[in-house]
Amino acid sequence: MAAPVDLGIRGKVALVAAASQGMGRATALALAREGCKVAICARNEGPLQATVKAIRKETGAEVLGITADVGRAEDVATFVNGAVQGFGGVDLLVANAGGPPTGRFEALTEDQWSRAYDLTLQSCVRLVRSSLPSMKARGGGAIVAITSISVKQPIENLLLSNAMRAAVVGLVKTLARELGPSRIRVNAVAPGWIATDRLTELTKIRADREGKTLAAAMAEDAKEIPLGRIGEPPEVADLIAFLLSDRASYLTGNVIQIDGGLYRGVH
Ligand code: NAD
Repeated sequence: MAAPVDLGIRGKVALVAAASQGMGRATALALAREGCKVAICARNEGPLQATVKAIRKETGAEVLGITADVGRAEDVATFVNGAVQGFGGVDLLVANAGGPPTGRFEALTEDQWSRAYDLTLQSCVRLVRSSLPSMKARGGGAIVAITSISVKQPIENLLLSNAMRAAVVGLVKTLARELGPSRIRVNAVAPGWIATDRLTELTKIRADREGKTLAAAMAEDAKEIPLGRIGEPPEVADLIAFLLSDRASYLTGNVIQIDGGLYRGVH
């Protein structure tokens, strides 16, 4: 692993939602390595606290774990308020959540649409709304939303992600305009295929449908990627840590794809 670059965020308070594993966890670890105080949440206390312990042990940073389901308004408030109480405020926010279920239009129910709205769009709205008063009181801040390459081109069998994440981009672009004067920068990352449990779950569904093994389906995906491989969570985490840092001080309102070159579009 590359030696840490000083991003100028030592001592800042960073909140990373949905971070007991995957890209959230990798981001929390990257920020802790940079000297941030980090608060993370996830729905299940056991895995959450195991991650808190592991990050503390590896980095020596102050890490707080608060059990919360980001699809629920009251839980988001509990997470952000708990972090503010624990660390005295919020400077940096990573809006993340688990991915919505797969499915094509005619298979999706009213209830699934409502839940995806809460999980993917409203979680971001609520995390930002709860964090803003503290960021403003501290004279600024930075926000990154984790979206998906689906904001550039729809993913097969993943309509809920395709629809809700586009709304998150609308939110991010608007927030960048509204919060710029308060010295709060707002960006999004759009990961392609990243090696996490979520990717395994999605690829397994496709492999089963197409009568292939998981390994064969993964290899097929990797072949489509110019860099020839699936990405790793720390690669996304490094991008997010950079976007949150003072080194990215003139970047706001951007959606940055991180996909090994998978997306072919010109824009
Ligand atoms: P992951 O499954 O590895 O980790 C998800 C994390 O979120 C876990 O810690 C889980 O406990 C937590 N979580 C799930 N639902 C939650 C909820 N309602 N409240 C609080 N915590 C919750 O997933 P990942 O691959 O790191 O994905 C993170 C996000 O990025 C997801 O929305 C996913 O759909 C999206 N994404 C993933 C990929 C990929 O290839 N892995 C690509 C693009 C976008």
